Amino acid sequence: MEIKKIGVLGTGAMGNGIAQVCAQAGFEVVMRDIADEFVQRGFKTIEGFLSKSVEKGKLSEDDKKKILGRITGTTNVADMKDADFVIEAVLEDLELKKKVFQEVESITRPEVILATNTSSMSITEIGAATKRTAKVVGMHFFNPVPMMKLVEVIKGMDTSDETVAATKELSEKLGKLPVIVKKDVPGFIVNRLMIVQVMEAIRLYEEGVASIEDIDTSVKGGLNHPMGPFELMDLTGLDINYHVNEYFHRELNQELKHVTPITLKNMIRAGKLGRKTKEGWYKYDKK
Ligand code: NAD
Repeated sequence: MEIKKIGVLGTGAMGNGIAQVCAQAGFEVVMRDIADEFVQRGFKTIEGFLSKSVEKGKLSEDDKKKILGRITGTTNVADMKDADFVIEAVLEDLELKKKVFQEVESITRPEVILATNTSSMSITEIGAATKRTAKVVGMHFFNPVPMMKLVEVIKGMDTSDETVAATKELSEKLGKLPVIVKKDVPGFIVNRLMIVQVMEAIRLYEEGVASIEDIDTSVKGGLNHPMGPFELMDLTGLDINYHVNEYFHRELNQELKHVTPITLKNMIRAGKLGRKTKEGWYKYDKK
């Protein structure tokens, strides 16, 4: 099915960014929130972002107007009825997400894919709240959406391969770099890795080992990350990090205990230590 119009649910930090990248890629966008003030705030953020691009000479005033002209704001979910693809970015609350999916399912055509931008929740469970399980998929953008390239496309237990392929294709059309998460696991790839680091950063601070600034400096200077864990938490929202960690604690108890994985032990026993032995997880030039 050709995608012309994209529905975005939620116009907060992620929703307005998603609406913006969709409109920049030439799609018609309907973005919906529960109150007009939130919709207007969404427009203001998009306009502010585009204006900065105009100031920097990266975008013409005319293109800015065209992009904004492709976005319609609404508080009425019925305005999504002719959307060809829907991306949900409401609050990280499972019951709310289930309700929103049922609502949007009841007004869109049965073939329309319903994607969720959840940071941590089960795609399978959100999908199971609908009758369209094969069409429910994870589409996890990163903050700030217009700047961050990655999109994790997550397959729920009943998500079809066609849905995953269509979501990957759409992500590419939005100028993003999609990766496929083949199993619906808490945290997918990035947050599963990230949460270990941010939680250890908090523990180091609590134990008085180093200051917040020095921990951030260590990660930037020693691991070559563009941001430290505390700066990153401030960007993503401490509440989101808290909820993600609580969720992991319930769902991934054993795996978060830092037990050395057997694969790592075996790699070391085999002498595959990385670049210095010319082979680790990757193979390096033998010269
Ligand atoms: P936010 O609080 O900035 O925005 C959420 C918006 O959803 C609010 O404007 C709220 O009014 C609206 N909303 C609530 N009920 C609604 C409904 N029934 N219909 C439409 N809109 C409704 O939150 P956010 O940071 O944009 O996060 C949104 C989602 O994206 C969450 O699932 C979050 O986990 C995920 N996410 C967040 C980040 C991040 O860094 N903030 C990154 C990736 C994914």
